[in-house]
Amino acid sequence: MQDLLLVRYGEIFLKGLNRPYFIRALVRKIRYAVRGMGAEVWVHDGRIFVRGFSDLDECIDRVTRVFGVHSVSPALEMEKDDFDSICCQAIRMTEGLKGTFKVNARRSDKRYPMNSPAINEEVGYRILTAHPELKVDVHHPEHLVNIEIRDKAYLYVKVIPAVGGMPVGTNGNATLLLSGGIDSPVAGWMIAKRGVQISAVHFHSYPYTSDRAREKVLDLARKLSFSCCGIKVHVVPFTEIQTQIHEKCADEYTTLIMRRYMMRIAERIARQEESEALITGESIGQVASQTMTALGTTDAVVGMPVFRPLIGFDKSEIIDVARKIGTLEISELPYEDCCTVFTPRHPATHPKLEKILEGEAKLDTEALIARALEGTEVVRV
Ligand code: ATP
Ligand code: MG
Repeated sequence: MQDLLLVRYGEIFLKGLNRPYFIRALVRKIRYAVRGMGAEVWVHDGRIFVRGFSDLDECIDRVTRVFGVHSVSPALEMEKDDFDSICCQAIRMTEGLKGTFKVNARRSDKRYPMNSPAINEEVGYRILTAHPELKVDVHHPEHLVNIEIRDKAYLYVKVIPAVGGMPVGTNGNATLLLSGGIDSPVAGWMIAKRGVQISAVHFHSYPYTSDRAREKVLDLARKLSFSCCGIKVHVVPFTEIQTQIHEKCADEYTTLIMRRYMMRIAERIARQEESEALITGESIGQVASQTMTALGTTDAVVGMPVFRPLIGFDKSEIIDVARKIGTLEISELPYEDCCTVFTPRHPATHPKLEKILEGEAKLDTEALIARALEGTEVVRV
């Protein structure tokens, strides 16, 4: 007899020619998630199993966070010839349950001496005898006691929901503009959940922003790294660009011009990374640089799609996700971001493109970008 974890993936991926590709990718990601636990992951009859883990709860915690996993069930694999022992385990697995249940036997081994209705009846009877507080409901049971008779017998009751989504890497690459705030880690997590491998770009303005602020961003990336299967973070020196903008451009436009430089540089890095899109944590109207007009002026400098998965989210909704994925407590640390270093008193909310271009004409854009890229440091987390 041994403990297994039965892993389920989304139904929509079962269809079509992509299925084997999808399953292979998912198995690789589950192996990555349980590394160091001595566990083995394998596919049998189109289903994914994990076994050999030292700690079931830890294994469940890790596997339910893998994008592409929709639910898991702790299961028992046992010899099918010992029917009494199957019944004993069914009684053990239903211990502590309340309400109604139904036994759901399936028999792919047709030579097995009992058929499915006979198994249902006998196991159901023994469970009722052992746990008289339970009731049978064959139409809408609260708990389903699954017994599968295959090469061996498999038994499982609990279905634990998992994160869902698609395995990382099955939907291409995108590059996240990662600040130390609450929003951008959530935005990256949401796109990665759709099967996208993400890389990150962070702009820092040393000495206006501290080493600790930079370290905080790397901590955020580390937090995301488990779900995202590793992240390459490009740390871009942004001090020269920011000080020049501050010195030469009209105060009310400095934030937007700075955002446009971020987008230009992020796009260059994204192309090196073979990314097909940029990701930001913006949401309509959250700050002056996130009005629709302002977002239009930052989009205007990039030649690839910009994904803003939080565009319709309220701050409180973003915070809920940040808490769930474990980035909130890091984001709430007080270290300043480069965006807040030179904030204008009255940023333009209805910016005029000609004013922005007027300001940018005073800067040597290509040289500034080239120097920033030259000074970029790559950290893998
Ligand atoms: P967040 O909480 O993610 O920082 P925010 O509400 O502070 O978002 P802004 O500071 O206006 O918003 O930034 C908008 C977006 O620009 C961020 O979500 C992020 O994608 C990107 N961004 C801002 N600052 C940086 C930075 N220093 N490095 C990389 N990207 C940044
Ligand atoms: Mg920010």
